[in-house]
Amino acid sequence: MKLHEYQARDLIAKYGVAVPGGRVASTPAEARAIAEELGGRVVVKAQIHAGGRGKGRLVEAGETAAMFEKLTTDPANNSGQVKGERVGGVRLADTAEEAEQAAAAILGKHLVSIQTGPEGKLVKNVLVAEQTDVAKEYYVAIIIDGAEAAPLIMASTEGGQEIEVVAANNPDAIVKMPVDAATGFEPYIGRTLAARLGFTGDQANQFSKLLEGLYDTFVATDASLVEVNPLVVTTDGRVIALDAKVTIDDNALFRQKELEALRDKDEEDPLEVLAQDLGVANFIKLEGNIGCVVNGAGLAMATMDTIKLAGGDPANFLDIGTVNDPQRVVNALKVILEDPSVKAILVNIFGGMARVDIIAQGVIDAHKQIKIDVPIVMRLVGTNLAEGEQLLEESGLPVVRAKELGEAAAKAVEAAGKAA
Ligand code: GDP
Ligand code: MN
Repeated sequence: MKLHEYQARDLIAKYGVAVPGGRVASTPAEARAIAEELGGRVVVKAQIHAGGRGKGRLVEAGETAAMFEKLTTDPANNSGQVKGERVGGVRLADTAEEAEQAAAAILGKHLVSIQTGPEGKLVKNVLVAEQTDVAKEYYVAIIIDGAEAAPLIMASTEGGQEIEVVAANNPDAIVKMPVDAATGFEPYIGRTLAARLGFTGDQANQFSKLLEGLYDTFVATDASLVEVNPLVVTTDGRVIALDAKVTIDDNALFRQKELEALRDKDEEDPLEVLAQDLGVANFIKLEGNIGCVVNGAGLAMATMDTIKLAGGDPANFLDIGTVNDPQRVVNALKVILEDPSVKAILVNIFGGMARVDIIAQGVIDAHKQIKIDVPIVMRLVGTNLAEGEQLLEESGLPVVRAKELGEAAAKAVEAAGKAA
């Protein structure tokens, strides 16, 4: 689950990270009032679940795809930042009146950046924060390093640009240090990273304290990502976080109820939201036209590969898990059928702990509960296969059967092709 910048900065501030003063606004008048409180010199920042806002562009709803094309095809269109002619979703204002104007120009528009995709994102809120005089920009982030099974701190002197770009052009500029989760953040980690980035004296101390705050946030919130880009040194020598990005691990939300309340479903894919609401975990919407119902993440990946190999395109990734309730299958089909591009559905189940007859019952129940107007191809093996086959047989439903995955994928691709 992603947080907005205004939420993320409040979180890291709670753990001792220095951030500029500021608050969120949903109208230009509110933005003006906050700017007045802050003394007039502010930065007005679009709040969307995507980065690259400073270099993005604000357009009307119908113009997002063309703008996305422009930003992604010519790098020149995606350079420059917050000042001068090129004004995107992050704008400097020197008076409360300018702040109001900036908010009016941003709110209600669609912001397109290289991270939003061609749909862009509708801006509902802006963060109005004290303007900072920046001397130098840095990058820091904490992620989980799967190979090391440990939180990993990454930092760079190349702040203010996407870390992927730095990794591609100048990988030596990124320094990394794993943290032993058992002992946690120790002072030597902060000192070492500060030294490697060239911080000295009091600034090294400020940087270490800030890193420790980010690490505490990461652990306490079950985050999968905490990123500050840019972290800056101000012209008067303070080290502060100018941007904040926090992503919470969805698997931990059951014990992060307070954070779950910060979820902004408007920013998420509507099908994925429906999947969550119906308890169909691990659903990811894709661009193809063959809906997939599969148990197990590995089998789901293999199924998608096989569909591709057969010349088709999956409409989703779905790991339905170990199903012990036919209604889960019904719900999965409901979600898949909400997608108008779906022209065929492939059900590929390996019954280990999951029982094939429960899956078959789910498909039968689905036909009773919802209108299914696309062909369903089923490949079933494993526990209670005979019972499952009998149920399907007796139901008389026109499901297409396949014995092997390759055959099933080919039949699904064929069915989708006929329907398209
Ligand atoms: P992003 O483009 O979505 O990552 O949004 P950021 O919050 O990182 O803002 C983009 C850029 O705007 C930063 O890299 C800074 O260079 C610049 N910026 C943001 N806030 C300020 C500020 O208070 N003062 C100055 N001078 N620049 C700022
Ligand atoms: Mn940023």
